[in-house]
Amino acid sequence: MTTFSDLKLAEPLLKALAEEGYENPTPIQAQSIPHLLAGRDLLGLAQTGTGKTAAFALPILDHLLKNPKPAGPKKARVLILAPTRELVSQISESFKAYARHMKFTQAVVFGGVGQGRQVEAMRRGVDVLVAAPGRLLDLIGQGYIDLSALEVLVLDEADRMLDMGFVRDISRIMTFLPAKRQTLLFSATMPRSIADLASSLLHDPAKVEVTPPSSTVDRIQQAVMFVDGSNKRDALLTLVESPKVVRAVVFTLMKHEANKVAEFLNKNSIVAEAIHGNKSQGARERAMKGFRAGSVKVLVATDIAARGIDVDDVSHVFNYDLPNVPESYVHRIGRTARAGRDGWAVSFCDPEQRAWLRDIEKTIGKSIPVVRDHPWHSMDAENSTMRPPVLGGGGGRGRGGPPRGGAGGRGRGGPPRGGAGGRSGGGRPAAAGRVH
Ligand code: AMP
Repeated sequence: MTTFSDLKLAEPLLKALAEEGYENPTPIQAQSIPHLLAGRDLLGLAQTGTGKTAAFALPILDHLLKNPKPAGPKKARVLILAPTRELVSQISESFKAYARHMKFTQAVVFGGVGQGRQVEAMRRGVDVLVAAPGRLLDLIGQGYIDLSALEVLVLDEADRMLDMGFVRDISRIMTFLPAKRQTLLFSATMPRSIADLASSLLHDPAKVEVTPPSSTVDRIQQAVMFVDGSNKRDALLTLVESPKVVRAVVFTLMKHEANKVAEFLNKNSIVAEAIHGNKSQGARERAMKGFRAGSVKVLVATDIAARGIDVDDVSHVFNYDLPNVPESYVHRIGRTARAGRDGWAVSFCDPEQRAWLRDIEKTIGKSIPVVRDHPWHSMDAENSTMRPPVLGGGGGRGRGGPPRGGAGGRGRGGPPRGGAGGRSGGGRPAAAGRVH
């Protein structure tokens, strides 16, 4: 097996890795690092959770160590582009951890907060700039950032950046970069749009592929429950109350639904926080911090907000709503079973989402085991031939569409839960426990 010293990384990095408790490189690290140290472009097909951040951060830091020089005012030597501010912050934290025994400067740039500190951080230039595309373009336009001397460019989660509508921003950013540079592109999926982007940006790239979506899925125990929309809350509550659920991420399609689900869980003594694009940066960070520390048991998230969730011991992912994009299913359930642990992914499928389940099963190449032995089983959902709802917006930035028809009637109370009345749990149907 390859070790980090086999990879010939500089001593200060090896020391930091040992302190982080990393014993051996992950497959993406073992495969990518030699190419990157040799200065090659790279196309990496890998999801979050595979160790891809270190796969690019370590060779970049190695390069900076071996070629020290001041960046120059407003300049960056390395640019990492990532879709969300959470991911930007996490990448920046990773750099900080791996660079703790070397001199190194970095800045982060993302929207949703004032630009003053970001501009100030860039004033003298930095080794590494980690940025979300929109704000970066803004600051370039205002003359606060100069990318003309860039040496290395990384596009992280490129598929998600395109999904979020950043394709134009990315093309514009490219016009400010020197042609001679090293370019790395990481993506969890490889649709045509990403293949095109890669061929326009990368020169003779080394290609590295780890854990293609279907094999990632294999490590996670999956189940689907056919449940009508009006029963989802009760089913979810019963599931998350199981002691086996240590930390759970619940996915909804709509932001307002995320809020409602979190509120419902909190009213029933489960500490839950909703995170989505309408929450302030501070609120999201507080929620993530609580989730990491264990004081928040459940995060209720929409797909886009969830991109930044990087917590190793998520025991369960619950798809309160199935996603309408099959790849999102793979992304979502990849939040569990990280770092070699087991994980559960339980999905609710209501009659409107039946067609999406078929698409997902086609994408992952297998059918998801159905759990029928529970009190909310809906034959209507299982046999539904309904056309799925059309989700709105069209712009690609989130799913801001109208609430679906079936979602309106979920008033407080819902159907009585197992006859137990209240939250004592005495009458909770035991069968539901089988899906954990
Ligand atoms: P990433 O795919 O970059 O989001 O990394 C997923 C998680 O794996 C992060 O929590 C990293 O700290 C951790 N990690 C990355 N590389 C290693 C390694 N070689 N050994 C152990 N943990 C690692």
